[in-house]
Amino acid sequence: MLTADEIRARLRAVRDRIDAAARRAGRAPESIRLVLASKTQPPEAIRAAYDAGAREFGENYVQEAVAKRDALGNLADLRWHLIGHLQSNKVKLAAAAFAMIQTLDSETLAAALARAHKVPPLPVLIEINLGGEASKHGVAPEAATRLIDAARSLVDVRGLMAIPPPGETAEDSRRWFVGLRELRDRLARASGLALSDLSMGMTDDFEVAIEEGATIVRVGRAVFGERLR
Ligand SMILES: *Cc1c(COP(=O)(O)O)cnc(C)c1O
Repeated sequence: MLTADEIRARLRAVRDRIDAAARRAGRAPESIRLVLASKTQPPEAIRAAYDAGAREFGENYVQEAVAKRDALGNLADLRWHLIGHLQSNKVKLAAAAFAMIQTLDSETLAAALARAHKVPPLPVLIEINLGGEASKHGVAPEAATRLIDAARSLVDVRGLMAIPPPGETAEDSRRWFVGLRELRDRLARASGLALSDLSMGMTDDFEVAIEEGATIVRVGRAVFGERLR
């Protein structure tokens, strides 16, 4: 793990890059939320980022998040996002632990989340499998309308999330980010929902994502260094 000082400095550098990208795009820097992807990082690394001002963290596994939450004690204003696939046998635990589920990809999961978390409905993003990759979760773009129609009375659908196919450079991600934004615009018109959140962009391409409309970027290595384990 990096030292607390290193994490603080790297967090500040990422924030500066977010602000600069927002200004280049004519957007307000405060309109972009930084969710720190903390998978494999120990609670001490999360604590260091928290002490440096970070409040939102993304975890890929429900139990890993719960273990870290318990180890960190009572940090009431720390918000956890689920950014990995949700298994149906973890729904209850997830509904209690996460402020937002970014990976909704089935009506069955939406119904289970609604049973576990009735009031208020749980904030979710629909995960879109932009590249049609068999290795990734998420619904095909063509299936999103149907899922939103089914899920909107069960959970609070706030927008879309995607992990584009890997590219050589950050620019390779741009067309996928444009595609996600355009899909969001079409779905918002068709559904009448705002769908204001676009969660896209990671360490290697978050600035391009901001230029293309990201409201949430999920950044791990740029702040925490290489993944552990
Ligand atoms: C790990 C992860 C990230 C962060 O990736 P980095 O390249 O470390 O910034 C973002 N989103 C998801 C879904 C992840 O699993």
